[in-house]
Amino acid sequence: MLAAVGTSASALAVGTASAPATATLRVRVVPAATGDRWNGWDRPALEAYAAIGVALERLTAHIERESKTIDDADWSLDAEPGVDPPTGLDGSDLLTAFGDLLDDREARSANTAHLLLAREPFNPDLGYGTARADVTRGGDGTVTIANLGATERWDGRDVTRNIAIHEVLHTLVDDEAVGAVVEGSCDHDLGSVTRVDEDVSEVTPFATAYAGAAEPGSETSWHGTGCGDHDRFYRHDGITEEWRHTTELSAGTLGAVRDFAERRL
Ligand SMILES: [Zn+2]
Repeated sequence: MLAAVGTSASALAVGTASAPATATLRVRVVPAATGDRWNGWDRPALEAYAAIGVALERLTAHIERESKTIDDADWSLDAEPGVDPPTGLDGSDLLTAFGDLLDDREARSANTAHLLLAREPFNPDLGYGTARADVTRGGDGTVTIANLGATERWDGRDVTRNIAIHEVLHTLVDDEAVGAVVEGSCDHDLGSVTRVDEDVSEVTPFATAYAGAAEPGSETSWHGTGCGDHDRFYRHDGITEEWRHTTELSAGTLGAVRDFAERRL
């Protein structure tokens, strides 16, 4: 009892000085099972997971450095055992099914992006991935999907890493944050495409699958089917013959996530 009184008294004392404002970026990664002892955590899944960790570190370092309202920015990244999601669904239906699987496991948390690493190389209705809403919608976070099966089959590990980051980024911005950086409210326009050699462009995660010509075999083997306007991109130096991908985030992406964190987290 005395301890409890002491605790509340000291909490009050701290409260009278202005408490440091904190924000935490939370991601939980759930791979589709691979049917072996790795339980979904094969090499592509591990590398996607690691890439998300690097991105979260960069985002929180940027927020701590640049924000006038957030003093402490943290991140958390959980790894869950594999699940067996239904296959052949489109993005919206798979997001719903994935949400149900998480509910069955009681594995949903507030303000958290729950990312499914799907394994469907031949499902054009799913494509490379999709996302639903930002992390603050509803009380139990949101769901998003990166289809490793497709990125690995059609492009390779660099695109796998970037799409994993890309689908998480969708959950860490809202229209207001996007509109403060670029014209309109298309998340993909926050990415950057930078000419690094005569006919080579470098693509950041949000621009990945949207940087090239809207036809097969440009920046990625399959072009994204969502929004995107190269004239509105944070930076777009033009279409090139060759492309490479970086997990570095564009300044536009960093700024938009900071704005979102300041208002919503
Ligand atoms: Zn996207």
